[in-house]
Amino acid sequence: MSATSPAPEPARPEEPAGLQGTAPLVLASPRPASPRPASGRGRPPRHLADLPLAERRGVVAGLGQPPFRASQLSRHFFGRYTDRPEEMSDLPLAARDPLTRALLPRLLTPERELACDGGTTRKTLWRTFDGALVESVLMRYPDRVTMCVSSQAGCGMACPFCATGQAGLTRNLSTAEIVAQVVAGARMLADGQVPGGAGRVSNVVFMGMGEPLANYASVLAAVRRLTEPVPEGMGISQRSVTVSTVGLVPAIARLAAERLSVTLAVSLHAPDDELRDTLVPVNRRWKVADVLDAAWGYAATTGRRVSIEYALIRDINDHAWRADLLGSLLAGRLAHVNLIPLNPTPGSKWTASRPAAQREFVRRLEAHGVPVTVRDTRGREIDGACGQLAASAVAPAPSSAPTPSSVGR
Ligand code: SAH
Repeated sequence: MSATSPAPEPARPEEPAGLQGTAPLVLASPRPASPRPASGRGRPPRHLADLPLAERRGVVAGLGQPPFRASQLSRHFFGRYTDRPEEMSDLPLAARDPLTRALLPRLLTPERELACDGGTTRKTLWRTFDGALVESVLMRYPDRVTMCVSSQAGCGMACPFCATGQAGLTRNLSTAEIVAQVVAGARMLADGQVPGGAGRVSNVVFMGMGEPLANYASVLAAVRRLTEPVPEGMGISQRSVTVSTVGLVPAIARLAAERLSVTLAVSLHAPDDELRDTLVPVNRRWKVADVLDAAWGYAATTGRRVSIEYALIRDINDHAWRADLLGSLLAGRLAHVNLIPLNPTPGSKWTASRPAAQREFVRRLEAHGVPVTVRDTRGREIDGACGQLAASAVAPAPSSAPTPSSVGR
């Protein structure tokens, strides 16, 4: 990110109290908009997470401070998850404000927080400096904590079964706006706000709002920042990061060439072009065969098993013959299928497959020797599950009956 004049810092709201109910809970009520109007133009203020450490040193030196203060600030942000000058006792009092103003502007203001699964699934609606709304979801499991992050405000891919796709693209997020979602989750955990005791973010999935590979440069820099060790970055393992795409073929090839160990997920949803053209409109540009070729290229270059995402939609893509076709396309490949029971989205008449159809789909894939799992659809009650992120500032309608499938596999 290039330097822009720093935006006035939004007021820092108090942290929402830790709550533990099983019903969806509104943890924070809507807040006043941040001082900047929604313009959709201009860049977010520069933040240290946008820059490699060497460039942060340059900024610090420009303020007349010794360059090692860049590492100190970086440790506060990436290691202690704080951007508050009052928590930086290793910095001289007079330097704290200028340094945090220059490199740690508050980029995301929590607008609303919802929790379910006894407080272990938490969706946060964030407001950016220009009024755009994005969402992130924290999911705590017995053995890991996954942050699902947004890479764009909205999405331009227009998949008809996805709530985010219905509203269109507002703008790309900056690297720091992406990283800040993970740091916020890390802070929640470190503070003991998530039931289960203090913990760390172990996994990051780019499966929130947006098409990550359509915001390539910012997403790639975010992956680097998340995975480089403190103080350069946050120290999460590359293998624990998953980038999910609708199948932007040239960008998949580009990502492979970066030689990272991140997992690639491809949202396939249909094994045949006729259906995929309608479910994933970008298929009109890059066909199933092109997307899978790119995926196998990724697997060959990185040695990483590719995850094939397939939302099971009743009577639309859950036919036995489609399971067989998918199985034959994937047999013998370094791939794994993640079936996602379709999550309901407003205005869509589509629904999840019948249990028998889902079982048969799994059975046929397994008969082709293809590893399959059925995705845990956490967060349905708070519209935080796959495809439900729509970033509306209005509270969701009260959910109907609890979704038994919402916890566990
Ligand atoms: N644009 C990227 C990142 C979003 S990931 C991508 O498409 O991969 C979100 C995942 O949830 C994708 O696999 C997406 O296809 C899937 N999804 C979208 N809407 C869904 C819904 N209503 N139910 C279940 N999965 C859905």
